[in-house]
Amino acid sequence: MTQENSLWTKSTCAYCGVGCGIEASLDAKGELSIRGDKTHPANFGKLCSKGLALGETVSHEGRLLHPMIDGVESNWNNALQHVAMQFSDTIEQYGPESVAFYVSGQLLTEDYYVVNKLMKGFIGSGNIDTNSRLCMSSTVAGHKRAFGSDTVPGCYEDLDTAEMVVITGSNLAWCHPILFQRLKTEKEKRDNLFIVVIDPRKTDTCSIADLHLAIRPETDVALFNGLLTHLAEQKKLDSDYIQSYSEGFDAALISAQQDAPNTKKLADTLGVNEQDLISFYQHFANTKNTVTIYSQGVNQSMQGSNKVNSIINCHIATGRIGKPGMGPFSVTGQPNAMGGREVGGLANTLAAHMEFGDAQAHHMISEFWQTEQLATKPGLKAVDMFDAINEGKIKAVWIMATNPVVSLPNSNKIIAALKKCPLVVVSDCIAKTATTEYANVLLPAQGWSEKSGTVTNSERRISRQRRLLPSPGVAKPDWWIISEVAKRMGFSKAFNFLHEGEIFAEYAKMTTLNNEDGLTRDLNLIGLTTLDAKGYSQLTPQQWPVKTIQTETVQQRLFADKQFFTPSKKAQFIAVSLMEKKLDSDEYPLILNSGRIRDHWHTMTRTGLSSRLGAHITEPYVAIHPDDAKAQHISDNNLVAINSVQGAMLVRASITQQQKMGEVFTPIHWNKQTAKSANVCHLTNDDTDPVSGQPALKSTQVNIKKWHYHSEAILLTREILDLSLFDYWVKQKVEKGYLYRIADNRTPLVLSENLQSLLKNQQGKTLQFSSTDESQQMIYRYAFVQNQQLNNAYVASEQLSTQSLDWLQSVLDLPLDNSIEKTLISGIVEGKLAQGKIICACKQVGINTITNAIQEQGCYSLDSIKECTGAGTGCGSCLPEIATIIEDTPFTMAQQAITKSTVTLNGVEQYTP
Ligand code: SF4
Repeated sequence: MTQENSLWTKSTCAYCGVGCGIEASLDAKGELSIRGDKTHPANFGKLCSKGLALGETVSHEGRLLHPMIDGVESNWNNALQHVAMQFSDTIEQYGPESVAFYVSGQLLTEDYYVVNKLMKGFIGSGNIDTNSRLCMSSTVAGHKRAFGSDTVPGCYEDLDTAEMVVITGSNLAWCHPILFQRLKTEKEKRDNLFIVVIDPRKTDTCSIADLHLAIRPETDVALFNGLLTHLAEQKKLDSDYIQSYSEGFDAALISAQQDAPNTKKLADTLGVNEQDLISFYQHFANTKNTVTIYSQGVNQSMQGSNKVNSIINCHIATGRIGKPGMGPFSVTGQPNAMGGREVGGLANTLAAHMEFGDAQAHHMISEFWQTEQLATKPGLKAVDMFDAINEGKIKAVWIMATNPVVSLPNSNKIIAALKKCPLVVVSDCIAKTATTEYANVLLPAQGWSEKSGTVTNSERRISRQRRLLPSPGVAKPDWWIISEVAKRMGFSKAFNFLHEGEIFAEYAKMTTLNNEDGLTRDLNLIGLTTLDAKGYSQLTPQQWPVKTIQTETVQQRLFADKQFFTPSKKAQFIAVSLMEKKLDSDEYPLILNSGRIRDHWHTMTRTGLSSRLGAHITEPYVAIHPDDAKAQHISDNNLVAINSVQGAMLVRASITQQQKMGEVFTPIHWNKQTAKSANVCHLTNDDTDPVSGQPALKSTQVNIKKWHYHSEAILLTREILDLSLFDYWVKQKVEKGYLYRIADNRTPLVLSENLQSLLKNQQGKTLQFSSTDESQQMIYRYAFVQNQQLNNAYVASEQLSTQSLDWLQSVLDLPLDNSIEKTLISGIVEGKLAQGKIICACKQVGINTITNAIQEQGCYSLDSIKECTGAGTGCGSCLPEIATIIEDTPFTMAQQAITKSTVTLNGVEQYTP
């Protein structure tokens, strides 16, 4: 190992299910540098904007540093004793079903293993569920129905040899950027690669699509049933595969045919062009190497499991599974959703892919764990669990590393449930989340950079997450906290773990129970059962099954032998039909979709600490079609109220043709800590898929109304402020401080006075200026300087173009000079301050810099933008957005005359002047 290499520690990215390998190095100032791990087979050294910014998110800001009992600081011994006693007393009084654990895909596999062991093995209840229920439990259900096991059959490498890739229910470009980049590179290299995107929205993923099918929400089952029907009609089925290796085809086909009487009718149902539909079907029928990637757009639905099986049906029917370059491919949202599925984090699985209702499995696990209390039936799934809390059936809940108040549907009900629950324990690394507010006991857990263990990514590859930094306060690993509580509940022998490596070894052994050869269950880690401390410490990525330890990268596909884990060993077709969901309502005529944006993650507890990531999209918004906006007299950037039966939120309108009429989209990330009223889960109802229990988070009926207010302000501070007195506020992290956007029903003058009272400025220089603008509205400008540094500043008026004030984002980080003071008071922006909203987070290039390059330097291609501005030369996640800016930027006839060049992306013409 070279000296340079020895300074870098290999670990895994904290975010999505791609599971990219990172390398981290700590400098003398204590700052963490991050780079991609070139040897990791998930990303080969590449990282997206979120991964690259990991080093900026490890500050101790907002950390929970000590155990707290009823709001009072405690120590570990008292807190652990208190939790153990309260759980034991509740179980003694009301039985094991009266307690529950709600855990997270952010936990490492070792954490997951011990928490599952405690609940199912020793408390004796199945009441442990994970926020992965919200992410891909419909896929788990679909896999188990079709394959008899929760198995992702393929590898990322399949994208390199696929000739057709269907991306459905996934904005891969923003949610799994490194996989998207891999596919984009293939698209640039290979003319024969045909990409279809199926999504009601035109997202950045469409930038590489040959065909975009913007189907109506919730019609996916009909689309794939139509495909199965077409394959049968065109005699494009693999009859041998169907006959020899599968069961249930006839019933599935009959069901499919009922949804697809003819393509004309089907196209009407789906809301797509008939020719486009036929083109999709013909390409699928004629392209052997086809991969279908799918994600939350498929899973988060009342018919999520059926959608999954409708996709898998088409792959089984064509024998396109378990072979290079083909297969159904679920990509998970969270870094360790797969690890949780493996060890039994879901309420309806026992452990290590062994199931409830299997007497032999029950016996083996009882012996293995040396317990007589192993749960005999599945526990409550997430939504049902919180219903049971609300109904008083569950009296003690322990929530780990997740924020259900913000992420589960119908937040008001979740809050009511937590308020009623006699004991709410929350272990988290963050002190103030929407959920910790309702906790009786808070337990400080380690954060991503402090934890050590393993995670499994979407292609079944287990990677080490390594400890990079010491923990602040007395934060501890989750597995340690759980084990210590278990010991105090009387289960010392079973939880006497000294190190996470011991837990992993026990889990690896469990996968071999009656399965030494891996023929009973595909989840088999026999090659890792003999790992010693050194082996665990130095473990390189391993793709399961692991027969012998993998010293080189392997690419394994499951079901290559056409043997499945069903009783007959055959794959199962599942007969599914479109469930018409009535989505028409006079009062709530729009369908609200929700999802992630490029640079934020979940509830922003980490990404919200990075000013780079915060600069991409600075406010919660609702994307709305121009005609829907016009009907409500809404203009771009207006503040609007989104209302549903459950609740309301206030966000900024973003009018775009990328949204279909009648449908709107809003991101999931903002919550009480970052905005006054922008939690989408206040709006969503708690409908779930009847098979998987996964909530239907993508089709809430809403209306949208323009919100009228009397004043607006933009405020820059070095401190977090309590702005609850204002009607609307949103917080954005900027370098050295925060930028708040505020709107209120008070007059601008009163708003300005309120802001000054809140800021409590004393002993410094005040710069203040009030004037009227060209539309005769009063503008109040204020800045406070202390020790030659700007402390805070605001601009308030009746109406502000807050976007035109984006230059404020960088002011706190710049040396204060006369020109900045002048800009703060006059509002006239020059030089570096003028680059506008950041598009390229890596290179910090703003939209104005890009549009200037287009208009003034004639940069009409991505390559020339890269060359002129540096934008897009980092992780590349912003390239689709830059392509859209090139498309959208108006340019003059003179410029058209100068150039005949076209905007190209991946060799595909995007815009012809
Ligand atoms: Fe992290 Fe981005 Fe890789 Fe996902 S794609 S694991 S967020 S670097």
